[in-house]
Amino acid sequence: MSEVYFTPRKSSWNNSMIDKVETLIGKTGLVSSINPNDTVAIKVHFGEGGLTTFLRPVYARPFSDAVKKAGALPFLTDANTIYKGTRCDGVNHLKTALKNGFVYSVTGAPVVIADGINSRNFEEVEVNGKYFKKVKIAGEAQRAKAMIVLSHFKGHEIFGFGGGIKNIGMGLAVKEGKLTLHSTTKPKIKKNKCVGCGLCVSWCFRDAIESKDGRCFINKERCSGCGQCIMVCPHKAAVFKWQKDFSAVQEKTAEYALGALKNKKNKTWFFNFLLDITPECDCLSYSDSPLVGDIGILASSDPVSLDQASYDLVCRAAAMPGSKADGALIGEDKFRKGYPQADPEALLSYAQKIGLGERKYTLEKL
Ligand code: SF4
Ligand code: SF4
Repeated sequence: MSEVYFTPRKSSWNNSMIDKVETLIGKTGLVSSINPNDTVAIKVHFGEGGLTTFLRPVYARPFSDAVKKAGALPFLTDANTIYKGTRCDGVNHLKTALKNGFVYSVTGAPVVIADGINSRNFEEVEVNGKYFKKVKIAGEAQRAKAMIVLSHFKGHEIFGFGGGIKNIGMGLAVKEGKLTLHSTTKPKIKKNKCVGCGLCVSWCFRDAIESKDGRCFINKERCSGCGQCIMVCPHKAAVFKWQKDFSAVQEKTAEYALGALKNKKNKTWFFNFLLDITPECDCLSYSDSPLVGDIGILASSDPVSLDQASYDLVCRAAAMPGSKADGALIGEDKFRKGYPQADPEALLSYAQKIGLGERKYTLEKL
């Protein structure tokens, strides 16, 4: 059973959210696990251009300050995406990070795109899993001596939710790795719902969507299974087919997460920010209404316990009126109101099975 620390969202004049983050950092023992001159990757998601609910850059500051106090070298990092967007190569990714406010004067640490400009900067790590013998992890993050994983906890159309495991498993996979992670999820476009607007065609990075007679079709040979067409379609015409596809991508992501942590035993700390809990992930170029109100910030050295605890807290919260979760009951999974098939069970149970962490936890409220 792992320990999860929790500081609720409510703050006051002498206990701001930044004060609360500092208390959490002190509680975890993060600083004592870092040696002078260690390079420390602070894994974040810089937010797609247009999104407004990514983790606020100011939250990175207490972490970079703590790392510097230990005499070590912090840098903010993420790896490039496979889909077309504002973070699909190292140059545009860096520009997006700066535009979204991840600047040194705010965060206290420079931005380094972990897999370089063309996603060719990686290290192969042996995991000997059910799906992968070796995984390809973004080089600068893998070579860092320690890691702090800051995750905006929110919904996801394949995983149910996006938290710490997905942040490193999918987030630190290089493009080639991301393609293999998604390769079992191929969506289809529903004939009776597609109006032929073409939005998905312009978004698809593989040119896998063809337009014919006023509607669209997916070319399965070209499709990578990235799921972006599902998120951008305003008519819910693009959908995934089978639950077993989701299970495979979730389990594969857990194997990638195991690889990302392999050389950082007792040198990685995870923080989930349950703020602006939107139905979709931060790869979209807009932010929908949150499913529930802000809950707070959680921390643990165990990403499985941390994600399980975060998920449980969202399920127990009241649904936000007018959001995609509107009508969900206390205790009900708020994320599945928007994406009914996206069950996170495979991720959590397989992550536990391969030794990434434990689902059982104790929650210490600070
Ligand atoms: S975005 Fe949706 S409605 Fe528009 S063409 Fe694509 S599948 Fe059809
Ligand atoms: S068709 Fe959809 S899932 Fe397939 S590559 Fe294009 S955007 Fe991604």
